[in-house]
Amino acid sequence: MNMMTELETNTRFVDQFGRNKCKLRISVTDRCNFKCVYCMPEHPEWMKKHDLLSFEELYQFCDFMVRHGIEFIRITGGEPLLRQGVVHFVAQLQQLKKLGLKRISMTTNAHYLKQYAQALKQAGLDDLNISLDSLDVQQFKQLTQKDLSPVLEGIQAAQAVGLPIKINSVLMKGMNEDQILPLARWSVQQKIILRFIEFMPLDGDRKWSSEHVVSEQQILEILNTEFAVTSQDASSVRSSSEPARQYFIDGHPIGIISTITNSFCGTCDRVRLTAQGEFYNCLFAPQGLNLKTEIKALNASEPLSELSLHAALSHYIWNKESGFHAIQQRLKNQPSRKISMHMIGG
Ligand code: SAM
Ligand code: SF4
Repeated sequence: MNMMTELETNTRFVDQFGRNKCKLRISVTDRCNFKCVYCMPEHPEWMKKHDLLSFEELYQFCDFMVRHGIEFIRITGGEPLLRQGVVHFVAQLQQLKKLGLKRISMTTNAHYLKQYAQALKQAGLDDLNISLDSLDVQQFKQLTQKDLSPVLEGIQAAQAVGLPIKINSVLMKGMNEDQILPLARWSVQQKIILRFIEFMPLDGDRKWSSEHVVSEQQILEILNTEFAVTSQDASSVRSSSEPARQYFIDGHPIGIISTITNSFCGTCDRVRLTAQGEFYNCLFAPQGLNLKTEIKALNASEPLSELSLHAALSHYIWNKESGFHAIQQRLKNQPSRKISMHMIGG
């Protein structure tokens, strides 16, 4: 039994299962130039521009969160490179490194990366996750409604300026599982770390079904047909709070994020903020916490704003559920929530 109570925790954010929160994901926009089938709804209703938090407000929030234990910030979206000012935001966040921030990362579809790679490097970005779900030109277009070549050029540009990258590939049954081997070969040849992601029920039009999931087991079976697949040892397939289970193909590292068949919820150290100030203690949380007023008060240096933000956050984070499967079970017969991956940022 967990003996800690909510009042006994210090100013860092911890949940009722003792999971410390040290990673913050900030979605800076819900807009995207891609329309990935597993993410974007057919008819997205974009957030209104005037409802978005400004970068100054987001910065004040990050400053507050770093002073309360956040060590890693990931900038995401929608497509983060679509929001003007994002490079300056990365540069501004560098100031938080003296307060304990260790890394500033970004997740992008890489379509505009060729233009931004140099500036992001100069702004001090530490690393990038890039989505790439197919190396087949036609299939890529089917999946995203955009061309593959700018993405490959973006990847090259990031490598040329020395930005460390990882590739994320979401797999959907009947869509792109035929890309497991081509992507794996490409990652070995390019010496890039690749992570396959099991399709999660976070698509905009809620068409997800477990039948569309290519499971970790199935991915391993396919990899095994061509590569010698090994793991460090059975008990440490996943290191600490890393979401990906770690394997090697012919000695080259490869990860599998298997939220559906091997969830990493037990060690989850993440929290998330949407572009309009909704805070989520879990990707699958049925309810977010609207912090817009509190964050604006923080930015205006209103007295007691930090105290009221801390009180609201610690209570909400404390009540984080045990994880994906517990939430699915509890919400079995209820309509699913409105938020999807393009708003919350992955
Ligand atoms: N636009 C950027 C990109 O695509 O990298 C950042 C935002 S995107 C929402 C962040 C990550 O979520 C991407 O790696 C994407 O592949 C992943 N993602 C989106 N929808 C998903 C789903 N239904 N299941 C699993 N991963 C998903
Ligand atoms: Fe856009 Fe990223 Fe969603 Fe694809 S996964 S639609 S690139 S936000």
